[in-house]
Amino acid sequence: MASNRSLLILPGDGIGPEVMEQVRRVVGWFDRKAVTFEVEEDLVGGAAIDAHGIPLADETMERAQDADAVLLGAVGGPKWDDLPFEVKPERGLLRLRKEMDLFANLRPALCFDALVEASSLKPEIVAGLDIMIVRELTGGVYFGSPRGIEDIGGGERRGVNTQIYTTSEIRRVAAVAFELARKRGGRVCSCEKANVMESGVLWREEVTKLHAESYKDVELSHMYADNAAMQLVRNPKQFDVIVTDNLFGDILSDEAAMLTGSLGMLPSASLGSADATGRRKALYEPVHGSAPDITGQGKANPIATMLSFGMMLRYSYDLPAEADLVQQAVEAVLASGRRTADIMAEGAEEVSTEQMGDAVLAELEKLSA
Ligand code: NAD
Repeated sequence: MASNRSLLILPGDGIGPEVMEQVRRVVGWFDRKAVTFEVEEDLVGGAAIDAHGIPLADETMERAQDADAVLLGAVGGPKWDDLPFEVKPERGLLRLRKEMDLFANLRPALCFDALVEASSLKPEIVAGLDIMIVRELTGGVYFGSPRGIEDIGGGERRGVNTQIYTTSEIRRVAAVAFELARKRGGRVCSCEKANVMESGVLWREEVTKLHAESYKDVELSHMYADNAAMQLVRNPKQFDVIVTDNLFGDILSDEAAMLTGSLGMLPSASLGSADATGRRKALYEPVHGSAPDITGQGKANPIATMLSFGMMLRYSYDLPAEADLVQQAVEAVLASGRRTADIMAEGAEEVSTEQMGDAVLAELEKLSA
């Protein structure tokens, strides 16, 4: 029997609690089978504002720092839209990312066979697609200084942002990409704009150096980020792992996500540095938000959050077989024609959030029988 793994669940707002209810059932299923979890639960976002007046209490932050992994639903909603920026629900999420120093954002783009038709690209381009985008999340132009808007006289103003990367910032995110590639297809494509940006030249040099020092077994290629944007829609299956900076990663990961269809299907992970025992701080969450337009109607698709839990099994708990099981169960449900409203197709059977949970659990049982 496996040892305990600590897990902090933060359902958050809107559809967050609804989808998390179904994910908890999946966690419970594994708990009963073989893998024991030590689950705690707490508030984040609007739910925390209502309870404590702030979007993330200090005690919750501490629990997140102590947990092996954090699973978050979604935050935000119209109820809290008029609050000042510093106390909005989203600040809770930003605080988690910042204080846990989650510098590597992992966004898989996986196209399930049953959903091939939902992509805006031709089926043969996306069928079997399985790529991973690793985005640097805590540096680059979103955080660099100087920044701001200044008056420069004569009715002119100047807006400034600064793209900055240091050796260690580049190396640590590249290392995550190389490690991932070792567990996947063994290939990393590093994207920047070394043709026009010094920070891009440094990025390319440092990734190349790290590769030569420690990851020669992984195949490394380099691509300008604008070309990568084109290649993602021309022939996305040429990629295995893409590693890139904060700005380019923001754009490329959204582009890759759309290759696969619905927001309700997309998981993500954000990882921090490994400690002496190899344990990394980690936050797993669906890409989607709190979807206030469908909250409380049983329409939310819980699969993105279930797949986020699957990523947790793989990357925080090193349980690849169990992670595969989650993915296979989702695949089987989709292949059987059951769909939540967001991924509904002609001839399919529309199911509620809870029925989707029932279906995934039933498939887990079948697969493990
Ligand atoms: P959203 O992702 O919540 O919703 C966009 C659209 O996709 C909506 O029509 C919604 O119904 C649909 N959708 C999203 N997730 C779905 C799911 N699991 N199943 C079925 N349909 C789904 O984005 P938005 O409408 O721009 O934002 C709503 C709120 O969420 C805002 O307060 C925003 O700030 C917040 N938000 C939070 C996060 C987060 O917590 N990480 C991310 C994005 C937005």
